[in-house]
Amino acid sequence: MKRMERRGKLVIVTGIPGVGKTTVLNSAMNYCKEFGIEVKYINYGDLMFEEALSRGLVSNRDEIRKLSIKDQIDLQLNAANKISEIAKDKNVILDTHMFIRTNSGYMAGIPAWIAEILMPNSIVLIEANPEEISKRRRKDANVRIREDDSPEKIYEHQLIGRAGAASLAILTGCTVLILENKEGAYDELGRIIALLFKG
Ligand code: AMP
Ligand code: MG
Repeated sequence: MKRMERRGKLVIVTGIPGVGKTTVLNSAMNYCKEFGIEVKYINYGDLMFEEALSRGLVSNRDEIRKLSIKDQIDLQLNAANKISEIAKDKNVILDTHMFIRTNSGYMAGIPAWIAEILMPNSIVLIEANPEEISKRRRKDANVRIREDDSPEKIYEHQLIGRAGAASLAILTGCTVLILENKEGAYDELGRIIALLFKG
């Protein structure tokens, strides 16, 4: 879809698991309401999960990233087409990931052909201190810290996310906003995201 043909704005919000994205986006949606801006929240994973379920490929959303890359790419494209349809005449916050950790390595959340379909106005990266994310994941899982959840791995995942956002900006002309989710910052970050839809 050409961006000119769209009536609303599409803002993609990404952040690795444990960064506090859900809390920030709840705040963003509240600010949108407060500012009187109509914005639809879409979770990319929800759309992929719904389709994967109906195809009998998975029984929970964490199984998606364990499917073959071919299946994941197919589900990803299917969801992008649905999102593009919704975004035609609406402001949209799209909750997703820049890179997904799969068994074959990092898979792009928005590869070039998806970028062409979505043509976002902005990409927002929610980041946090790797040590903090590592601690939060450990608390959530209530298990011993896995090698994969080490601060080093988390640093790497956020770093490749920045590279992805830069690539997306070159491909689509979207702006890149990097936000640090420090302790208690979620409210302010939500306000900043909501402001992207103003003016
Ligand atoms: P989430 O609840 O946001 O972690 O999303 C659930 C799952 O959906 C993720 O673990 C991924 O497997 C998948 N997913 C979400 N967004 C994308 C995307 N843009 N491309 C590929 N897979 C995605
Ligand atoms: Mg989340």
